[in-house]
Amino acid sequence: MAKHTESRALRYAVIGAGMAGILAGIRLLQAGEAVTVYEKADRLGGTWRENRYPGLTCDVPAHAYTYSFEPYAEWRAYYATGGEIQGYFEKTAEKYGLMPHIRFGHEVVSCVWDEDEARWTLGFGNGGTATADVVIAASGVLHHPRMPEIPGLESFAGRAFHSARWDDAAQLDGARVGVIGNGSTGVQIVSALSQRAERLVHFQRSPQWIMPVPYFEYSEEQREAFRRDTALIDAIRYDKDYWASINRFTQAITHVDGPEIAAIEQLCLDNLETSVKDPVLREKLRPDYRAACKRLIYSWSYYDAVQRPAVFVERQRIAGIEPEGVRMADGTLHALDTLVLATGFHADRFIRPTQVLGRGGASLDDAWRVRPTAYYAIGIPDFPNFFMLNGPTGPVGNFSLIDIAERQWGYIDQLLDLLRRGETRAIAPSHAAHADYEERRIAAARTTIFGSGCASWYLDATGVPASWPWSYEAFADAMAKPVLADYEVRAAALA
Ligand code: NAP
Repeated sequence: MAKHTESRALRYAVIGAGMAGILAGIRLLQAGEAVTVYEKADRLGGTWRENRYPGLTCDVPAHAYTYSFEPYAEWRAYYATGGEIQGYFEKTAEKYGLMPHIRFGHEVVSCVWDEDEARWTLGFGNGGTATADVVIAASGVLHHPRMPEIPGLESFAGRAFHSARWDDAAQLDGARVGVIGNGSTGVQIVSALSQRAERLVHFQRSPQWIMPVPYFEYSEEQREAFRRDTALIDAIRYDKDYWASINRFTQAITHVDGPEIAAIEQLCLDNLETSVKDPVLREKLRPDYRAACKRLIYSWSYYDAVQRPAVFVERQRIAGIEPEGVRMADGTLHALDTLVLATGFHADRFIRPTQVLGRGGASLDDAWRVRPTAYYAIGIPDFPNFFMLNGPTGPVGNFSLIDIAERQWGYIDQLLDLLRRGETRAIAPSHAAHADYEERRIAAARTTIFGSGCASWYLDATGVPASWPWSYEAFADAMAKPVLADYEVRAAALA
């Protein structure tokens, strides 16, 4: 490794003021670094700003869905609502003094690496530019809504909109509402609207595995106890049963014939059998693929919701949308006032459409022509000093992305130390290390439950699961210490 003894003050650009960008910003400020967070919107929060649908809840226990350094006594229930989580991020950014460092209304449209200067130039949608030694791409995963290609959608006379673009003017109470989509979002919306709509039609192309989970509210006495003693919060966050369940879950997805996934399937099937009384409805709701192949749904309320008199589960193919409503393949018309499209996201975008040009003009679009990928989900060969949080090939599943991002930050911070100490001015994973990682990852990913034959956003365009294919423990171990031999370091312009 090229050694240089002079330590350097670095300037950091963080792209995105969502959960991960706030984390990076706070950590850099705490370390006394010069950081600017660029945010396209006029408010922080990322996914929690953009999603405001009725029933929005995070299905990770609230006390486990916080930064490790900022426990929060105020959660009203075991699972937090989207609004509460948005409030938590706003309070946390304020408390740690991050707000003056966020440039709102700054959409980053380009990042261009200058090899001689060993720095990035960022271009903004508003025409300005800025430079930084290090870019932290924390631009999120599920932020480009996927609209369904259904003939006649634009002809609908009522209000039709994507779940992440909630239309506050839409009629819900006492109205005829349709929800297309049966992922975590559609299930939460249907659960929330089942007692509000006059008629609620849940259009399901694929039924889901529904994992029963506890739900309870915290009393004011409990919150007061959390305020007095954060050890009580830690006891929930670091509860050994909770972590055992995460490890079991990752065992389940990585061992498709193992006892863990069989146990999950049995739990969900028992839930279906015991919760849904009508045998016709029960068969409509019975999944025909492996559990956890699509993201497993954790719900304490969905099966109750679909058995309410106003709710109808529609499993037929949608033939088209007409001004009055949704026409099914058998000719049935569901007349509707409001149509919610809970049809998911383009999960392969990450920082794109931002144009990212690395060493020698290498473009991220070219590097990601087959699939978005990054060495250990963090960095990309030819894109020095460019690090991602919640980037491609990281773990996905039913656990906290905050914990993922914190572990990734711990890893990135160790690489940054090399830059800070002046040991190098540019660091990126080598092509060989990245190729080896991808070869091993893809081989393992094909054998995970995600690759067991269903369609989901977990798959890349070639049908290979796009995520971390090993255990959570393996991820934690990998993030604990970077293998520096896998990185190319250059003294660029120091000589
Ligand atoms: P999603 O899981 O991708 O689900 C999209 C749904 O839309 C699927 O049921 C899909 O059916 C259906 N669909 C898509 N196009 C369709 C079409 N043309 N006609 C009929 N149906 C169509 O999207 P999501 O529910 O928004 O969830 C995305 C992710 O966000 C989740 O997996 C999760 O990671 C995250 N999320 C998390 C929480 C939480 O509580 N932590 C809550 C909400 C979302 P097929 O299955 O047949 O393709």
